[in-house]
Amino acid sequence: MHSPHSSDRHPSPQEIAAALAPALGASRLRLNEPLASYTTFRIGGPADVLYDATTAGELASAVTAAKDAAVPLFVLGLGANILIGDLGFRGLVVRNVARGVEELGGGRVRAESGVIVADLIQHCVASGWTGLEHYVGIPSTVGGAVWQNLHFLSPAPDRARTMFIEELVESVELLGTDGSRSLASRAEMQFGYDVSRLHTSGEVALAVTFALAPGDPAQMHRIMQENLGWRGSRHPWLEVHPSAGSIFKKIEGVGAGRLIDQCGLKGHRIGGAQISHLHANIMVNLGGATAADVRALISHAQHAVLQRCNQFLEPEIGFIGAFVDESAQGTVSS
Ligand SMILES: Cc1cc2nc3c(=O)[nH]c(=O)nc-3n(C[C@H](O)[C@H](O)[C@H](O)COP(=O)(O)OP(=O)(O)OC[C@H]3O[C@@H](n4cnc5c(N)ncnc54)[C@H](O)[C@@H]3O)c2cc1C
Repeated sequence: MHSPHSSDRHPSPQEIAAALAPALGASRLRLNEPLASYTTFRIGGPADVLYDATTAGELASAVTAAKDAAVPLFVLGLGANILIGDLGFRGLVVRNVARGVEELGGGRVRAESGVIVADLIQHCVASGWTGLEHYVGIPSTVGGAVWQNLHFLSPAPDRARTMFIEELVESVELLGTDGSRSLASRAEMQFGYDVSRLHTSGEVALAVTFALAPGDPAQMHRIMQENLGWRGSRHPWLEVHPSAGSIFKKIEGVGAGRLIDQCGLKGHRIGGAQISHLHANIMVNLGGATAADVRALISHAQHAVLQRCNQFLEPEIGFIGAFVDESAQGTVSS
């Protein structure tokens, strides 16, 4: 976006809204909107401009409008895998609430990328299609799930392997950085542990087609109860203790949480942020935590584990927007 004033001055929220209004409608743009309540951590400053995309078409239009106006953009799902800086996001945040679901027949289900995975599970279980129920209790949109290749140790009782959402993905409808639309197969999505091609391609997932198998709803309900019970006894409860799930990437063989625990850091607190008593790789917001508190706690855990275990803990969550401990706006790091 071209500022009418000096070239290094950031445009105001009003100027950004004026540039986007012709494409998105002025009444749909919210200025200086606090973002904390749109994240599971309940942390984060305001977006210059927030827009709710209610269909995949609106999502594509918003992304394209931001690109055309050279406005920095962030696509927000449920905000379950990010920490937003205390200074908020300079630019446009598109909150993806595109929630259309379509049965294509034979277990193929097309979901817009803003569909909440929990809702999709309910839909598929009621229709007798199995696969997604293993991911019950994990906060995510469909878009966030393919971004990070959602995964969980299931099914009970063995929990012998990690199941990945890619196993159920037939194809993903993508919006490219040049505004073109394409269809990527599962193989073309380059899924890995905590990763897909979306991390580097700059593309936005508009919709996902899942290929599910016929199953017994009673069996699916059993899996859901077992998985919810397992999670509930090992992880802090999101409703009471807001978090972003695991903070650090898995370290093969040892586990980031175990290393943090070995340093005696369970329960360690900085400001309103605390390393969970239940799971050392999860940090919780005890109330009023700032992003600066979380970043300080992350640094503290990294330092302790490096000193004691000679291992570097790499954050899994994305750092979004501007942080008080940095001059520039952060980018996604996953
Ligand atoms: C209590 C708790 C438990 C968790 N347990 C698990 C678990 O067991 N397994 C697991 O894998 N994860 C787990 N997580 C992490 C989190 O649930 C997942 O990473 C989830 O997929 C995030 O989805 P989201 O919609 O919230 O994405 P967001 O956090 O909103 O966004 C994450 C990233 O995805 C990008 N993105 C979102 N939508 C799109 C799109 N349509 N196109 C392109 N990019 C997009 C965003 O821009 C951002 O960079 C947990 C989190 C919490 C809070």
